[in-house]
Amino acid sequence: MNKLRWGLIGGGEGSQIGGIHRIAAGLDNAFTLVAGALDIDPARGRAYAVNLGVTPERAYGDWREMLAAERKRDDRLDLVTVATPNASHYEITKAFLTAGFNVLCEKPLTVAVEESEDLVRTARDCGGICAVNYGYSGSALVRQARAMVKRGDLGRIRVVVAEFAHGHHADAADADNPRVRWRYDPKLAGVSSVLGDAGIHALHMACFVTGQQVERVSADFASTVAGRELEDDALLAFRMSGGAVGRLWTSAVALGRMHGLTIQVFGETGALRWQQERPNQLLWTPLSGRVETIERGEARLLPEARRASRTTIGHSEGFLVAFGNIYADLAEVVRAANERRAPDPLALSYPTAEDGLRGVAGVWAAARSAREQGAWVDAVPALLRAT
Ligand code: NAD
Repeated sequence: MNKLRWGLIGGGEGSQIGGIHRIAAGLDNAFTLVAGALDIDPARGRAYAVNLGVTPERAYGDWREMLAAERKRDDRLDLVTVATPNASHYEITKAFLTAGFNVLCEKPLTVAVEESEDLVRTARDCGGICAVNYGYSGSALVRQARAMVKRGDLGRIRVVVAEFAHGHHADAADADNPRVRWRYDPKLAGVSSVLGDAGIHALHMACFVTGQQVERVSADFASTVAGRELEDDALLAFRMSGGAVGRLWTSAVALGRMHGLTIQVFGETGALRWQQERPNQLLWTPLSGRVETIERGEARLLPEARRASRTTIGHSEGFLVAFGNIYADLAEVVRAANERRAPDPLALSYPTAEDGLRGVAGVWAAARSAREQGAWVDAVPALLRAT
């Protein structure tokens, strides 16, 4: 099978997420990196791209230069990933979508709701893929949970509890570190810090697993380290489109918590619990039954989870393969379009621009609610309410 041609913007040497994308895109031999504008520093970006095997003519110093050259080529890129800091997602994604490229954009899709709405419209008009990297939704057992909810194993969903807590910004003495400080500066981070950065994954997961959308939200934000303008801890109550009651806690000062993304779904006839730090196990409790452990790799997994699983039972498999599954979905959809056939329906699980918009709208609604002492705020973006 031919490898697909892949371009990367951001994700330069030393970045947090660039290396993960490169591994994930290469999983299953799906994509090969052929072009990139990897760094805010043009010379460093070009040098690093060449180091990674990109030919010098396609190792760009700037994303505009990359767009101008790549749009003229016959051997067009099949997918462009945008992994720059949040504030530049909108402009770059819009430009590449408009030029007819498929885009996978890092989360949050944009820093403002109107920008995300515009990207949804642009993607619809251009007909290309605009995906958003809520990467954890690629985990095999998250897909198992979603499929079990969809099959009706849990009955009507009563309550969803989502968490994303870490303690990496707990050190008050480190608050002035430039890599930490910008995240709490509204001019650079927008209306929210930890909810927009980490909690947004939990919010998406609550929707992804239940198949419901967040409709209304009430939030309490706290800045627990002196001098921080934006929240480093937040608690949300929300109501979902199918009637589920939602709770979400996110924190950057939760010492001892490493990367605590957790989802719990409680239905009338059963409950599920999954933790990012233990991705190989999904806990299932049927009504009147005992807690059972569903293991990734076991024979009885549903097709959605089997497709997302690479190693045999008992071998660790996590973050990298979860991201890889987003790329695997996109590879299938791109190949299907190239071959003028319908894609495998299971590949349509990747998060879309609409999911990105809902996440940004949820964060904005929560920030407004927090400013209004927890008032209930409508979280449905106007564009999606109308359609
Ligand atoms: P980072 O600061 O570690 O790295 C950013 C990289 O982008 C650097 O190499 C920088 O030089 C480059 N860059 C900045 N502006 C650029 C521009 N205009 N053109 C080209 N390159 C540019 O940031 P990070 O932690 O890697 O985060 C990047 C994005 O990924 C953010 O949007 C973040 O929210 C997201 N992220 C997502 C996840 C996830 O789980 N999905 C995890 C971490 C980060």
